Amino acid sequence: MATQTINDVNLAGKRVLVRCDFNVPLKDGAVSDDSRIVAALPTIKHLVEQGAKVILCSHLGRPKGQKNADFSLSPVAEALASKLGQTVTFIEDCVGPEVEAELAQLGEGEIALLENVRFYAGEESNDPEFAASLAKLADAFVNDAFGTAHRAHASTAGVADHLSPCVCGFLIEKELAYLGEKTAKPERPFTVILGGAKVSDKIKVIDALLEKADTIIIGGAMAYTFALAEGRAVGESLSEPDHISTAKAALEKAKAKGVKFLLPADNLGVKDLDFGAGTVGDSRYFEGNIEDGWEGVDIGPKSIELFKAEVAAAKTVLWNGPMGIFEIDACNKGTFAIAETIAASDGISIIGGGDSVKAIKMSGHSDKVTFMSTGGGASLEFLEGKELPGVSALDPKQ
Ligand code: AMP
Repeated sequence: MATQTINDVNLAGKRVLVRCDFNVPLKDGAVSDDSRIVAALPTIKHLVEQGAKVILCSHLGRPKGQKNADFSLSPVAEALASKLGQTVTFIEDCVGPEVEAELAQLGEGEIALLENVRFYAGEESNDPEFAASLAKLADAFVNDAFGTAHRAHASTAGVADHLSPCVCGFLIEKELAYLGEKTAKPERPFTVILGGAKVSDKIKVIDALLEKADTIIIGGAMAYTFALAEGRAVGESLSEPDHISTAKAALEKAKAKGVKFLLPADNLGVKDLDFGAGTVGDSRYFEGNIEDGWEGVDIGPKSIELFKAEVAAAKTVLWNGPMGIFEIDACNKGTFAIAETIAASDGISIIGGGDSVKAIKMSGHSDKVTFMSTGGGASLEFLEGKELPGVSALDPKQ
């Protein structure tokens, strides 16, 4: 069911609790990557222009229910204020009488940012009392934190029991549109590229996308479990022999549904990989079997050409997961070739979160893709077809 958005309601004059995803990396006490702050700006600006009293909240890191200055959101308040050119009042706690007293001073069109909600254990346990204390600060609720929408926490779901209206912000609206509608009724051909470490982590996504895609391309270590399912040898490559049957079932489903299912035609094999040092020893390409003593770490040049041609022919491309151990320079060619090809495609390009977003950004082409998801786990769960508690807690469209 479609969810109401901030465009469906008028929040002028209301105290609005906005759940943002300000889980940003910090370095020397300052925000070192402000992408998540930038992503939250459209919703915040809209509420300010409408004359709402904007009360922002978020988690940052894993303080495990304890107050811990290392995880304070105070640097986010500074970064946000400089992006908006407007004062952002930082409140040094997120619940209680002192917070209520400070927020009583907040005028229409003004912004406050609460301290890290995960300083309280009740946040992650979705404690009803903690949710009620947080909700007491506001009249209405806007959830714009897609990255935590797959968790039923107090600030993502619990508060919605006490506030009205409860709607999503522009960021979640966009995530639902691209990961949801654009993949449910895609412009065809619809090509999906999945990579990463484990088939077991992504099998539900593969299964759900087999219902929608015209072509599914598998890269990364995941491909080696599929190779085992096809009776090939994978040497010392990362694979999941326990999931050969899972891979076989996916291959059979693809055949039954007429979905083109592509595995790498060749792989880069290396010896003596040292992840910590970022180095590899001998390296060579393998077509078919990977010999004993060699570890598959990337797709090879033939696979790159094959996958490029599929992407170029697609009208919609969805990518999740690297093609190899892209953290090591010697193993990153496949991942970056895919990133560049997707960025250069004329079709709709959707990057499904996590490492693929990192790779697109590192390739310098992130401005050329249609949509990059801000959620890792949340995008995978949504692509699996699961209901996200932080979305289902909101008001449905009338
Ligand atoms: P995931 O979280 O499942 O998307 O997996 C991402 C991780 O998969 C990255 O850290 C990659 O280094 C890793 N990965 C991708 N390809 C391989 C491979 N061939 N061997 C080992 N790890 C890989």
